[in-house]
Amino acid sequence: MAAASFDNMDGKIWMDGEFRDWTDANVHVLTHAIHYASSVFEGQRAYCGKIFKLEEHTDRLFHSAELLGMTVPWTKAQINDACNELLEINKLTDAYCRPVIWRGSEMMGVSAQANTIHAAVAVWEWPSYFSPEARLKGLRLEISKWRRPAPDTIPTQAKAAGLYMICTLSKHAAEANGFDDALMYDYRGLVAEATGANIFFVKGGELFTPTPDCFLDGITRRTVIDLAHKRGLKVTERAIMPEEMEQFEQAFLTGTAAEVSPLSQIGPYNFEVGGITKSLMLDYDALVRGES
Ligand code: PMP
Repeated sequence: MAAASFDNMDGKIWMDGEFRDWTDANVHVLTHAIHYASSVFEGQRAYCGKIFKLEEHTDRLFHSAELLGMTVPWTKAQINDACNELLEINKLTDAYCRPVIWRGSEMMGVSAQANTIHAAVAVWEWPSYFSPEARLKGLRLEISKWRRPAPDTIPTQAKAAGLYMICTLSKHAAEANGFDDALMYDYRGLVAEATGANIFFVKGGELFTPTPDCFLDGITRRTVIDLAHKRGLKVTERAIMPEEMEQFEQAFLTGTAAEVSPLSQIGPYNFEVGGITKSLMLDYDALVRGES
């Protein structure tokens, strides 16, 4: 039997307008995306059969494609339908959903004006990974040596494959050292984000989170800011210096995959998994499941 792998599962994948068997959703090795990172994608989650904030994710997908100079040959409605229909076809209710847009093979060099633009969506089972109790222990982050780049060096607001090169390097280094993930500073040395999630801190009953001026302004991040406001909590978006972490009492990550994940440690700094973090975790769980 073949080893378990994402290219070898049962089910259907939507690719360039049709539902294909999972193992037939392939690209050629001379695809521009593989060589020159001409690829943008989304990460979405379905809870109880419904993809949370699907339209916002699709808006960001199209915006990312535009930032890379790619015109998507599908409408947003077609991509949304593909995501929803795939869930049904694959009989999934709690799932991860991955749309991706990329350049094909017509030109094989840095220039790619004539390359066709392709689209695909895959979904796979993604039950809640950790129980709230397990997550409440708090994740441990290493501080990465890699920094989020400046907005005039790469389109930092795109959810583009190329931006993840340093995330994979950071996460591999962190895991090799026994940590769960890495915190990345930005090109100025300010606190930025984790390798696939945004970061918040709590101090004196208020929330603080870095201004997203060189990294993704995550959909979960904005959702959690709204949830905090609903609880009457003050949220300040501002530049955060690494030394400030000494004074922060609680810290947590936000992201579609990470949801609200408390942190117990970032490099030399320790945090408690406190009441505000726990409340926002529960608020988020209730919201995504349509219970609030
Ligand atoms: N930053 C990075 C680098 C990410 O990969 C993600 C996950 N998409 C996020 C932040 C959080 O974004 P969202 O809440 O929209 O999932």
